[in-house]
Amino acid sequence: MQNMVILGATGSIGASTLSVIEQNPNDYRVYALVAHTNVDKMLALCLAHRPKIALMVDEAAAQRLKQSLPSQLNIQVLTGEAELLALVSGSEVDTVMAAIVGAAGLPATLAAVKAGKRVLLANKEALVMSGRLFIDEMQRSNAQVLPVDSEHNAIFQCLPHQVQEEIGACRLDDAGIASILLTGSGGPFLNSDLDLLADMTPEQACKHPNWSMGRKISVDSASMMNKGLEYIEARWLFNASKDQLKVIIHPQSVIHSMVQYKDGSVLAQMGNPDMRTPIAHCMAYPERIYAGVEPLDFFKVGQLSFLEPDFNRFPCLALAIDACEQGQEATTVLNAANELAVDAFLNGQIRFTDIAKINEQCLTKVAQQSLHSLEAILALDGEARHLAAELIKRL
Ligand code: NDP
Repeated sequence: MQNMVILGATGSIGASTLSVIEQNPNDYRVYALVAHTNVDKMLALCLAHRPKIALMVDEAAAQRLKQSLPSQLNIQVLTGEAELLALVSGSEVDTVMAAIVGAAGLPATLAAVKAGKRVLLANKEALVMSGRLFIDEMQRSNAQVLPVDSEHNAIFQCLPHQVQEEIGACRLDDAGIASILLTGSGGPFLNSDLDLLADMTPEQACKHPNWSMGRKISVDSASMMNKGLEYIEARWLFNASKDQLKVIIHPQSVIHSMVQYKDGSVLAQMGNPDMRTPIAHCMAYPERIYAGVEPLDFFKVGQLSFLEPDFNRFPCLALAIDACEQGQEATTVLNAANELAVDAFLNGQIRFTDIAKINEQCLTKVAQQSLHSLEAILALDGEARHLAAELIKRL
């Protein structure tokens, strides 16, 4: 029986994780649920899953949750960043699902890594920001990090066992691997008229053709910044060089990514686009459990197609690949700028095409310094956010 903490429990990944736990009640216990402000959702989750602990990072939200929870459930309500860091590091915790969205997830994810937990990593932004530091901490603590992001999970599944065990320090070349083929659907605007992109609404951007996800990652999918963040994530998880990483557009989202070997073989992982598959894979690794996902019906899929990404349509993807080459400082700045720009777009403050403009300007304007600690990363993240906020005001 694994005791699990679910960071971002009220979100889309949180819901999929709880659904997999429901399928396998004898193997996993919901030890703690963590969210930010969504009291109604957290209350419903507490009533359904009876965790030992419910933590709302926001203090007022924690107060409201405490008042609403029936006392006979005996659920301890905690709040604040310090209690969150202590919670994920606690001795009763086996596994942490890291699914807080954005940079906000970094401190708790890193704390779970430092404490040597089994960390199921959905919060890609944490790795994009902390890169080297994250991998170093992982090696120091012997934490087992397993990739939840469907592409990285697919790549992981296509690697030889010995390379899986070296995650963070993989020797791809020694294992006969020529390249990692990161697939992406191209999102809702793959075939839209380029002239119309500026006027796309948040609702249109969030209408992903294949996946149902939170709003931030949905907008990132529409701009393909999501693929860019995944490219950076893959660079760190699989210790891959620029020559070993390729992005391929695959509109059906049936192949979730591939590994190409030196002998010409290509191994692909396929399945229906449902996050419960990679989540179940990480939860049970190296075993397999039921995820509640429909088996893939090849006759319904019919065709698989592949395209080269058009950087003119998806400038955010090009920015991310360049930032990855520049290093961790650039990726931290890009991630911060993008979070603010996406938020401004979702709130109707800027247009869809302004997201790439703000990201690009932040990358050129924020002074880059070397990042050797969490404090330095958060300081640079703050600086980039400040500039992005100024740029958004001026638009
Ligand atoms: P959602 O927007 O659906 O959920 C976000 C979760 O994060 C909510 O539980 C929210 O709590 C919580 N949260 C937000 N801010 C804070 C904060 N400051 N402190 C603590 N908790 C916070 O996001 P998703 O589930 O879609 O995505 C989560 C992560 O997983 C992202 O990093 C995303 O890139 C990654 N991912 C998601 C996939 C998907 O299919 N959805 C696929 C692959 C990766 P509250 O509700 O209280 O605000």
